[in-house]
Amino acid sequence: MTAISELRVNGDRLWGRLEEMARIGATPAGGVHRLALSDEDRRARDLFRAWAGSLGLAVSVDGIGNMFARREGPEGTGAPAESRPPLVLGSHLDSQPTGGRFDGPLGVLAALEVVETLEEHGVRTARPIEVVNWTNEEGARFPPAMMGSGVFSARFDLADALGATDPDGMTVSDAIDRIGYRGALPVGGRPIAAALELHIEQGPILEEDGCEIGVVTGVQGARWFDLAIVGEEAHAGSTPMSRRTDPVAALGRFLVDVNRRVERDFAPHGRLTFGVLAAEPASRNTVPGRVTVSVDLRHPDDATLDDMEDALREAATDACLERGAAWRLDDVWRSPPVRFSGRCIDAVRAAADLCGYSSMPMVAGAGHDSVHTNDVAPTGMIFVPCEGGISHNEAENITPAQAEAGANVLLHAALRLVEPTPADMLSAPTNQPGGAA
Ligand SMILES: [Zn+2]
Repeated sequence: MTAISELRVNGDRLWGRLEEMARIGATPAGGVHRLALSDEDRRARDLFRAWAGSLGLAVSVDGIGNMFARREGPEGTGAPAESRPPLVLGSHLDSQPTGGRFDGPLGVLAALEVVETLEEHGVRTARPIEVVNWTNEEGARFPPAMMGSGVFSARFDLADALGATDPDGMTVSDAIDRIGYRGALPVGGRPIAAALELHIEQGPILEEDGCEIGVVTGVQGARWFDLAIVGEEAHAGSTPMSRRTDPVAALGRFLVDVNRRVERDFAPHGRLTFGVLAAEPASRNTVPGRVTVSVDLRHPDDATLDDMEDALREAATDACLERGAAWRLDDVWRSPPVRFSGRCIDAVRAAADLCGYSSMPMVAGAGHDSVHTNDVAPTGMIFVPCEGGISHNEAENITPAQAEAGANVLLHAALRLVEPTPADMLSAPTNQPGGAA
């Protein structure tokens, strides 16, 4: 019999499932189109349910379509079921409109592979394990993103989520019924011992460092603003440059200054993005009276986000003083940084060491369902590198060895967390809620 520490997943079996799943909604360019609650999503769910059923797992579906495939812990422990909350492993099966094959499915199918490995070797665990497929992580068809886990954690209201509409006006509620995935299980409101999610990094750091496993310690915070700079509309031909109050000139200096400050003072973790720019009245031969720009600031540390926000305001003040323009900064959204559970982080690091993989701690740049499970249970994430850091793109790619390494770490981190646990593990971590989409 294999010692527990020598257990390894079957990488070929995992890769085979990833390939089979990637055929559902496959695009000619090698990606997938599997929008939440579409026919493709239904087929992906059916396949997941069939695989889980073949392993003897009981699949239940909740009122927002989250799917839980449960492997029971040992029977006859004498403890009532509710005193043994499950360890939850998984991710999502939906994709962006032109998404990749691994963003999401890797975490779900690796969790299934972990359970199959335990079955194969006759390993019973002290608590149940549930493999989860969270509904609508991407939010591409129905905003907001991370919907199913958000309702599960009570961050989002169920009725609001069910009422969200796609661009054709169809509601989540109708879409769930159309594909037959509204389940009887109440959404959330039950204890979870801990949650783990394996995911591709979606960035270039692990690959550049030649590192096999990212031990994710948390998710960076984000702040969104709208900046408006107000000057004076004027004729493009007859108004001398010296007589203008041109908000575009102020905006130009602002953009350069604040970019320089973030690159100089907040490297390497600070991020600054101006995604939407507009001028009014948007006429070729009129000096605009008003320009607006969206601002997206990100950093893993909340105090540093405060400093970045100060830098933004200083740059706006300086740029507008020089041009005689006025400015106004409106708050749009704030998502504080998330810190994952120390116990889960330790379990992931120890699992990588046990399997002989190189690892490094890192902060997730994107939002994940784990941001929401972290509200209700100790949570951890495992990253594996992806080619060129490319994701949300049909070219997204990983190797079979990378998938296998991630699944092995998931297996051993899970085994550490299903040990009989002290009571402290059953309470949620004491950190601030929040996470960045
Ligand atoms: Zn994802």
